[in-house]
Amino acid sequence: MSISLSGPDIGQREKDLVNEVLDSGWLSMGKMIDRFEADFAEYIGTKHAIAVNSGTSGLHLLIRALGIEEGDEVITTPFSFIASSNCILFEKAKPVFVDIDPETLCIDPAKIKDAITDKTKAILPVDVFGQPANMTEIMKIAEEYDLKVIEDSCEAIGAEHKGRKVGTFADASVFAFYPNKQMTTGEGGMIITDNDEVAKLCRSMRNQGRGQSDLWLDHVRLGYNYRLDEMSAAVGIAQLERIEEILAKRAEVAEEYNRLLADVDEVKTLTIEESTTKMSWFVYVIQVAEKIDRDSVMNYLRDNGVSCKPYFTPIHLQPFYKEQFDYQRGDYPITEQVTDSTIALPFYNDLTKEEIETVVQVLKEAVTPPRAFGQEVS
Ligand SMILES: *Cc1c(COP(=O)(O)O)cnc(C)c1O
Repeated sequence: MSISLSGPDIGQREKDLVNEVLDSGWLSMGKMIDRFEADFAEYIGTKHAIAVNSGTSGLHLLIRALGIEEGDEVITTPFSFIASSNCILFEKAKPVFVDIDPETLCIDPAKIKDAITDKTKAILPVDVFGQPANMTEIMKIAEEYDLKVIEDSCEAIGAEHKGRKVGTFADASVFAFYPNKQMTTGEGGMIITDNDEVAKLCRSMRNQGRGQSDLWLDHVRLGYNYRLDEMSAAVGIAQLERIEEILAKRAEVAEEYNRLLADVDEVKTLTIEESTTKMSWFVYVIQVAEKIDRDSVMNYLRDNGVSCKPYFTPIHLQPFYKEQFDYQRGDYPITEQVTDSTIALPFYNDLTKEEIETVVQVLKEAVTPPRAFGQEVS
């Protein structure tokens, strides 16, 4: 038996709403989408919410809606899931990486100015692992240099920076609902913005570039099929209804881990910034001390029934990026140092206290020398 890394939390309400859709026979672009978008906009406190079929689709639409084109540069972080950078490449613009703050693991605002050139059009920060990027500083820089900002909040629904929800700082933001996220729709994402024009463009482009007329075959611009279906939207409505309960459960699991790991010197838990007035726990990631061989620790965890994963592999060291852009080790040293030492532990809403204790017990054994230094213990 092993303790899995993540798992969705689906209840009866989700099933009831999905059945409602199936019984109605209306499976796309119906009232569940309208309701999910209205509920989401209200939850975040934003004017528009546009549902799409993935977080990646949402990011791509925003790159286009904000007018980022071939040759433009977008400043972003190498310590992220690959989609936050790929969306820039989709439009033949160039991601320009800036190293992270070693504590928040988000883009370091102090290093952004040095990366700005006359080709820079936008900044794309990521709220990593559910902790907000320093949006106060990022928005100041954007204003000074007249840059657009797209906030990738895919990992941070409900998180708050200085008392304000993530997603409300930038020109537009994206949330994602893949099954390992805090709330899920299976596949799915949501664009949010207060900007009417951006919202209109995103609505059109997610639906094959259709105009606002009711003519189904009236295509006024290049678009895609990035529509979310009604069954997924139904699941989203039910998940969003108990988002506070979900976030509270996750916070409880994280606090229990933090408590049990507080006196383990070889393990560093995530630093929560003072400006993070609410954390939205996405994954539970620890860093092992530099002298410890991370991969041996992971092997030991797996051999003893504890799922785990290195998190993330930096984007600039992904094979495709290395090949295309000639990146190499050493280019973003803080990102690389963090990457080499992080391990994501099992983390989901209903992880029990006993399971958390087991994980911590095995982890403690794993970081104890000589095992932790890559040697076999007989
Ligand atoms: C999950 C995630 C996305 C979107 O992923 P999809 O699978 O396309 O929904 C984008 N950026 C980050 C940082 C993510 O974690």
